[in-house]
Amino acid sequence: MSHRLQSITTFNLITCRNITSFSKVGLLPFPFKTRVLSCKSSYRTGVEMEKPTSFNALDVVIDEPISLNKKKAAIRNAGPAKLQVIADFDATLTRYWVDGSRGNSSHGLLQQENPEFDLKREELFRYYHPLEFSPTLSIEEKTKLMEEWWEKTHSLLIEGGVTYDAIKKSVASANNIAFREGVVELFEILEEKGVPVLIFSAGLADIIEEVLRQKLHRSFKNVKVVANRMVFDQSGRLTSFKGKTIHVMNKNEHALDMAEPIHDHLGDTDGPPEDTAAVKKRTNVLLLGDHIGDLRMSDGLNYENRISVGFLNDNIENSLDSYKKAYDVLYLHDASMLGVVELATQLCSSEGD
Ligand SMILES: [Mg+2]
Repeated sequence: MSHRLQSITTFNLITCRNITSFSKVGLLPFPFKTRVLSCKSSYRTGVEMEKPTSFNALDVVIDEPISLNKKKAAIRNAGPAKLQVIADFDATLTRYWVDGSRGNSSHGLLQQENPEFDLKREELFRYYHPLEFSPTLSIEEKTKLMEEWWEKTHSLLIEGGVTYDAIKKSVASANNIAFREGVVELFEILEEKGVPVLIFSAGLADIIEEVLRQKLHRSFKNVKVVANRMVFDQSGRLTSFKGKTIHVMNKNEHALDMAEPIHDHLGDTDGPPEDTAAVKKRTNVLLLGDHIGDLRMSDGLNYENRISVGFLNDNIENSLDSYKKAYDVLYLHDASMLGVVELATQLCSSEGD
């Protein structure tokens, strides 16, 4: 692992001032210009696209390095016992592009017993997905629309039939979902240091857990999933969903409180579960997300220090300005997780940078 990290042990950075001024006059330096991607995403099959693969210094943007260094020092001084990681799942832990196509989400990879219902869910995606990113809708309007979308999708899942076996098979046959390089190393370091990882998603918890099991080939006792959780009957058929629906507009609200009932049975864990109160005592946060809204995942927590790491995967020229202001560290072009591995190592170290 160490040799792979060598090239990024120093956080090389390009200032946003440079990027935005270059972009305004159309003089983005190589390789930045050639790596700006834009595409219409596809719900299931994706579309063939250029796929960025390598890690590059230009893929990291740190807008306020002094502020970041202060936060790093404060978190390191407090020690791993005060730290927790809150991470989004789709396009944050997983890659945005897989073999040149848009990667699947936890919702998107599921194949129902009746394939007509897959098409119905895809129709909903085509209608609601552009509204999710509409710059003209108010938060209230968008929240109502997202609630509608999630409720309709969940109803279709129940109506069209889903079994736990179908989930396992869907994940096993899904070759369009993959973790970013470095996710396993990140989980290993955090597990070793006893730092909990809360994966907080508007996707489907049962599928995310199955993806973790099948794609990582091991379990981590420190990793917990908070997402929409299915209820199955005795024959293994989906009958309902537990608790409040988590969608993209409310995954900010009291994240840890919504997590509470789930902390009793955390996947394949064999260690003692850390309850909500204990997690709330961990007042330093490393937050990972790919959406501006992901920054609110820590809203239920009265944190002292938070380092936010964002992945800006697509539509980079239009979103760079808002993302670089919002996130302490910003990775562009579907970057690997190796920079976060290095950051987590520094945060959990007592020896300084
Ligand atoms: Mg995401």
